[in-house]
Amino acid sequence: MRYEGPIYRPPSEADSLLIQATVGCPHNKCTFCMVYKKGPPYKVRPVREIKADVDAAAEVYGNRVQTVFLPAGNTIAMPTDQLTDVCRHIRNVFPKCRRITVYGSSQYLYEKGLDNLTLLAEAGLTRIHVGMESGDDKVLAQTKKGADSATQIQGCQMAIRAGLEISVYVVLGLGGTDRTVEHAQNTANAINQIRPHFVRLRTFIPKINTLMLHQIKNGKFRMLGPHGVLREIETILESLEAPTEIRSDHYTNYVDISGKMPQDRNAMLDKVRAALKKPESDFRPVFVGTQ
Ligand code: SF4
Repeated sequence: MRYEGPIYRPPSEADSLLIQATVGCPHNKCTFCMVYKKGPPYKVRPVREIKADVDAAAEVYGNRVQTVFLPAGNTIAMPTDQLTDVCRHIRNVFPKCRRITVYGSSQYLYEKGLDNLTLLAEAGLTRIHVGMESGDDKVLAQTKKGADSATQIQGCQMAIRAGLEISVYVVLGLGGTDRTVEHAQNTANAINQIRPHFVRLRTFIPKINTLMLHQIKNGKFRMLGPHGVLREIETILESLEAPTEIRSDHYTNYVDISGKMPQDRNAMLDKVRAALKKPESDFRPVFVGTQ
C-alpha cells in the first residue's frame, strides 16, 4: 500500500483497511484545521493505482476485509465515475466487505447531487463522515467552512435520500463565547433537519499553523471553558428531535455521552449536568494541538 501526505481516519474505522484514493483536501481553508495546510496539494490518485493497492491488500488479507476507508480529507470530491469504479472493485475483491467509508464536506455532497450520490450508493459506498462543525451561518462563515447551513442540510439530506449513511461532526466551542448560544441552538436545528445516522461531538482546541490560534492570541476569539462547552451539549441534547446516535469518541471532549436519541437523552443529560457540578479545574487543561 502506498500513502502520501497526512492520513486521518475516524475512530470508528480503526479496524478498516485504508486505501488512499485522494491526497490532501480540495477546500483546505477552514481556519481551525491544520491537517493539510502544509500540503501536499489536493489530487485524485489514478484509479489504476488505487485498484493495484486494493489487489495488494487482498494478497495480504485474503477475503477477510470487512470494512474499507478511503482517505484523505474529502474523497467524496473525487469524480463520481472514478469513485464508483473503485467501490465496485473493492466489492469484487472483498465480497465480505460490508462498509466503504469516506470523508466528505457537505458542499461536495451538494455539488454531486442526488443522481451521482445514488450511483455511489449503488456502487457500494456506504457511509460519509461530514464535517458539519456548526449549524450557525456566522460560525460557518467565520471559520471559512465553505458551506452555509442550508447547503449543509441539503447536501446531507440528498446523501441520505440516495441511501448513504451520514455521520456529522459537531465542534463544540467553535463559536467561542460570542456565538455559543447560536452555535448550539442552530446546530441542533440543522441536525433535526438532516436526521443523520450519527452525530459525533468534538471539542474545539486550537491547532498550530491555524488562523484561529492567531485569533486567540490577539484576542479576537475567546474560547469557552469546560462549563461553556458542557452547556452547549446540554442545549443540543435538549433541542434534538431527530432520531440519531450520539458519539463523543474523541480525546478532546470533557465528557463521554454516547447514546441513542431519544431513548438515552435523559441519561446523557444527567451525565452532562453532573459534570457541570464539578469545578472547571477538574477538567483537562487547554492545550495547542499539534496533529
Ligand atoms: S476541516 Fe476538512 S474541509 Fe476543512 S480544511 Fe480540514 S480537511 Fe479540509
